[in-house]
Amino acid sequence: MAEYDYDLFVIGAGSGGVRASRVSSAYGARVAVAEEYRVGGTCVIRGCVPKKLLVYGAHFAEDLKDAKRFGWQVPIDCAFDWATLRDNVLADVDRLNGLYTQGLENAGAEIILERATVTGPHEVTLASGKKITSKYILVATGAHPHIPEFPGNEHGITSNEAFHLESLPRRIMIAGGGYIANEFAGIFNEFGSHVIVVNRTDVILRGYDHSVRDRLLQISLTKGIDFRFHAEFEKIEKLENGCLKVFLTGQEPVEVDVVLFATGRVPNSTGLGLEEAGVELDAKGAIKVDAQNRTNVDSIYAVGDVTNRIQLTPIAIREGQAFADTIFGGKPKTVDYGNVPSAVFSHPPIAAVGMTEGEARNKLGSVKVYTSDFRAMKNVLANRNERALYKMVCDGMTGRVVGIHMIGPDAPEILQAAAVAVKAGLTKEAFDDTVALHPSMAEELVLLK
Ligand code: FAD
Repeated sequence: MAEYDYDLFVIGAGSGGVRASRVSSAYGARVAVAEEYRVGGTCVIRGCVPKKLLVYGAHFAEDLKDAKRFGWQVPIDCAFDWATLRDNVLADVDRLNGLYTQGLENAGAEIILERATVTGPHEVTLASGKKITSKYILVATGAHPHIPEFPGNEHGITSNEAFHLESLPRRIMIAGGGYIANEFAGIFNEFGSHVIVVNRTDVILRGYDHSVRDRLLQISLTKGIDFRFHAEFEKIEKLENGCLKVFLTGQEPVEVDVVLFATGRVPNSTGLGLEEAGVELDAKGAIKVDAQNRTNVDSIYAVGDVTNRIQLTPIAIREGQAFADTIFGGKPKTVDYGNVPSAVFSHPPIAAVGMTEGEARNKLGSVKVYTSDFRAMKNVLANRNERALYKMVCDGMTGRVVGIHMIGPDAPEILQAAAVAVKAGLTKEAFDDTVALHPSMAEELVLLK
């Protein structure tokens, strides 16, 4: 008789949990994974994937307008039907949910569609009351949207609900200045909603280079997005006609149809039995782990957003893989958090890797910065007065490229490839030595003067 029911019990079938379960199973471990909502987790069900599909859908607004200049006879007022896009996106989410479920089953992991909590170093309890023992427990429960406290906040929604809206809001207020706020602002603005972004400070996209942030703000303003800075919510009243009356500090009340909170994400660590099991959390409720993803309790590990290291899908996946390789594969691995590329799928998108100019100046002292501020060929013919901006930040002593920051069409697609060069520690000279691929936007990266 085995000492425990399983070798590994994973709580949460999201990006990190699915990878850890699949790979551990493939190494021969007896694995069970509990999921309280839908297999696939935030990214697949209500994050990256449906978001990106909405971004694609939204961008047609500009492409259809520009098409005329390229000779296409497109009706002046192309109608957009939210329900069609929403239902097609949700159907694709169902497809992916099926694929993820199948992937786990094929690998031999047992899926338990129930909430699970930790009730001991080797024990979990399911919502049904069943107790299960396991040699190792991996907490991969992700994070949830933070909603600011104020009267009437129950009238707002979060990104979770945004994918299911009954109809397209005529007026939407989006709270927050991070990537989720700016992405939804772009999406709804392209669909024709009047978008108001409310932020406590006057800084959007903290952590990104100031030049690309400023450029997005300027372009977003030109596109008609209304930003209210240094504003906080006082209250929201629901009117008889169903509209929401929003009271902000220092502003006249505003009437909108939907308020969407994109004000950060909080680790899903409460009510999980972690404190009772003696697992340490940090001040923000994130599970504290070492480089091997181990908590202070030897048999309990954690990966992904619940550890609040870098809240991105590829990071959760890497952490899940490293966990499985280390514990069941006999190949100890740690995740390298240096030079992680990231993007904001705004209109136009932002993408970045490495240090911002400010960070490099603080850390390195001597820095050389190269920029290209240009109008993409396609935008020139389309008469679209929207400029792209690329910035390369180099170590002034060695010429090593320490950061690339871009805003412009397809920036994330271009940056993923450029990130390889930054990660590899290449110099500006290596970029200069590379022949341009002409005509492209990416060639700007090897032509910087
Ligand atoms: P999750 O994927 O959140 O999975 C956790 C799972 O655990 C969930 O399915 C949850 O239901 C389940 N769970 C929680 N508690 C329990 C319990 N007690 N019992 C059983 N199950 C439980 N990242 C990117 O890299 N690129 C993007 O473009 C991007 N866009 C995003 C857009 C939005 C709107 C959002 C919200 C997020 C986005 N992210 C993006 C972030 C990305 O989704 C997360 O970083 C990633 O999903 C984290 O993976 P995870 O495994 O830690 O958690």
